[in-house]
Amino acid sequence: MKRKSENEKPQGTQFSTFQLYSPKDIRANLDKYVIGQDEAKKILSVAIYNHYKRLLSSKYGIGNDKPEFRDVKIEKSNVMLLGNTGSGKTFLIQTIAKMLGVPLFVQDCTKLTESGYVGEDVENCVGGLLRAVDFDVDRAEMGIVVLDEVDKLAKQAKGNMSITRDVGGEGVQQGLLKIVEGSVVGVPPQGGRKHPDQKLVHVDTSNILFIALGAFSGLEKAIERRFSSSSVGFKSQSEVSIAPDRILDKVTHDDLKNFGLIPEFIGRFPVLTHTNPLKVDDMVRIITEPKNSLLKQYQKLMSMDNVTLKFSDEAIRYIAEVAITSETGARGLRGVMERILTDVMYEYAETERSKTLTIDRAFVENILSEREMMYGVA
Ligand code: ADP
Repeated sequence: MKRKSENEKPQGTQFSTFQLYSPKDIRANLDKYVIGQDEAKKILSVAIYNHYKRLLSSKYGIGNDKPEFRDVKIEKSNVMLLGNTGSGKTFLIQTIAKMLGVPLFVQDCTKLTESGYVGEDVENCVGGLLRAVDFDVDRAEMGIVVLDEVDKLAKQAKGNMSITRDVGGEGVQQGLLKIVEGSVVGVPPQGGRKHPDQKLVHVDTSNILFIALGAFSGLEKAIERRFSSSSVGFKSQSEVSIAPDRILDKVTHDDLKNFGLIPEFIGRFPVLTHTNPLKVDDMVRIITEPKNSLLKQYQKLMSMDNVTLKFSDEAIRYIAEVAITSETGARGLRGVMERILTDVMYEYAETERSKTLTIDRAFVENILSEREMMYGVA
């Protein structure tokens, strides 16, 4: 784990099935694809690095040569990552998993139910990982499980009052406790529910990293209230004035408890971080800067038809502004680009002689207002 010179390509260290990189290398790779989210990038890089060092220690005895540390067991540090929808939570983790070469499964927690209710057993989150690696148990046991929409399991979460599930998904949180902490889980090979005479595949989850994601809508207001009430009497104004889009910087495990997650569940996710809401400037950068940016993807598609596609800066900014109003974060961008470019891609397919097309703001405004009238979308 030695330092490298600035320009040296990160090599990482190859272990049987994955590659371990330093937090700085992980961060540098994230910077190529994900815009902003500096704090989340740093915290995730360290958490991932530590998690895989822990795995090396428990599985291969690395670090156990020093007598004073031989009996020291490193505990698991699962991660809780909060933030608005479409702000890059899943994307950050996908990018890291790809770099390290470890399998990843994203479990939508709203589909999970306590056994006996309609829905998927909690073990499905491990089953999905196992299926992603074609039942290679060794590889699955080094993977990452994303528990998406974990906020919907909160006790008072709205929309959870269905008669087919336990109120608030508290039972699901209970069911996940052991799995997340580390236990041997029996997974039905065909997926679906377990039934008594089915042979199960057993997976040890002690080295699987669980990363819980959630938008936790309303949490910011609660944090704000906490700050304004604690300000009475003894806090100076400057201490309590937090920029509205930086309120999540102040989130604590207690806030999650007040939101309705049970303490035992929260306790199993000691690393807590968040993504920030994306602003127009971030959206502009997301369209143009990442290695695999939307703009580059469409430019590539059109270059296959001999067309050099360009956008004016004002056009890009306008697209960013429109995408922000959809409140789906960067996820809305592709849809907007698609609406703008469909006719262009239709007209200029198989262009014989090379051509340069520059899309300006007026063109974008025009197309979007026309399409809005056609489909009733903004
Ligand atoms: P969520 O926060 O809801 O998990 P995702 O990570 O799935 O959102 O984001 C959806 C898509 O939007 C990603 O696949 C990626 O293309 C894009 N995206 C979101 N945030 C960013 C970002 N900060 N930088 C670059 N692309 C982003």
